[in-house]
Amino acid sequence: MATCCDDNEHDPAAKSVAAALEIILAAASPSSHSEVRALDDASDRVLAEDLRTEQPIPAWPNSAMDGYGLRCSDGPGSRRCVGAAFAGHPFTGELGPGECIRIMTGAPVPADVDCVVPQEQCERQDDRVEFRSALRPGANIRQAGEDLPAGAVALARGTLLRPAALGVAASLGRTELRVYPALRVAFFSTGDELQGLGAPLAAGQIYDSNRHMLRALLGRLGCQPLDLGRVADEPAAIRQALTEAAAMADVILSTGGVSVGEADYISALLQELGQVSFWKMNMKPGRPLAFGTIGSAHFFGLPGNPVSTVVTFYEFVRPFLLKRMGKTEPWTVPSLRLPCATTLKKKPGRTDFQRGRLVATAEGWQVAPVGAQSSHILSGLAQAQCLMVLPAEAGDIPAGSLVEVQLLEGLV
Ligand code: AMP
Ligand code: MG
Repeated sequence: MATCCDDNEHDPAAKSVAAALEIILAAASPSSHSEVRALDDASDRVLAEDLRTEQPIPAWPNSAMDGYGLRCSDGPGSRRCVGAAFAGHPFTGELGPGECIRIMTGAPVPADVDCVVPQEQCERQDDRVEFRSALRPGANIRQAGEDLPAGAVALARGTLLRPAALGVAASLGRTELRVYPALRVAFFSTGDELQGLGAPLAAGQIYDSNRHMLRALLGRLGCQPLDLGRVADEPAAIRQALTEAAAMADVILSTGGVSVGEADYISALLQELGQVSFWKMNMKPGRPLAFGTIGSAHFFGLPGNPVSTVVTFYEFVRPFLLKRMGKTEPWTVPSLRLPCATTLKKKPGRTDFQRGRLVATAEGWQVAPVGAQSSHILSGLAQAQCLMVLPAEAGDIPAGSLVEVQLLEGLV
């Protein structure tokens, strides 16, 4: 059976990663529906409204330090402490000439006070306070509106609600947020050799790892995963899975059977059931890829080799899902350029996504390959923190060269 052929590099008919991504992103548009959810249930959803501040943030001046609050125009020298302001407990009195108050971080700064001196720079004896630092108007006071003025967009429509964004929404007092619906993503793996977890392996069988990786990848994106299980390399079974998936999901993912082997039925079935393009991708790993629609659902036929499944997910499926979820740019995995710590082995012809780890050196961060780089070596990917994206035309890349690094750590 012909599968993804890692050794045959050059194929003039193969599509570039950039060209495929452009087509895929052009097909992704956010839902026209939105729903209101409790703030605590909106994590990893995408905001479908602009959130504006009603009041400035902070709403009133408050102290940035524990210390003493005073009026600079009273001149240098000591002050008499006449009261205290705590967070949640404002000072309600008035400040006479030569007076100060004890003030804590987050406490409202009274109108009479224009400077807070940190307590480490104060000497207190009974009610007298001496200051060891110069008195400067505005020092250690967080001004009203310093974070956001009233009426500002605190979070724009299209924001992915990660923890800090939820915190901003909470700081506005919002209990509910209008968000785009979670995408329903149906997925299944194909292959007669696949066995489910918990059952013994017969001769020639392997455990199905792709489906478990897809579930976790989808979960991190806040999608609703619809697991359709393992499907045999039989046209009738695959047809049924695709039909069932198209009826219940916004997006369908399959793995395996997308190549040109004798048991690879995905392409023929998709031509029968929907509008789908098949691409030989000019990348490694991940040569075969299908993309299109079945009914109203979008479909990705990912290659079966587990490393190829994950790499094509990050490069194509994830950007598609983020855009389809309503998120604004960027959709692709963030990348930076780092020197490589060792020579990177590569044949010219395809864009290579080598698995790497970050290495701390005296000269700063570098990147080094991890594990063997074949598309069936999943253990290397499990140790990887990043993908090193090596250009199609490049051959071996000498140590010290700057290479593009896509960080996988911390990705939703
Ligand atoms: P295919 O794309 O179906 O030709 O499969 C390519 C390679 O990936 C073969 O070695 C398969 O056994 C393997 N493979 C396919 N699907 C899975 C899966 N779900 N889990 C683990 N390995 C798989
Ligand atoms: Mg197969």
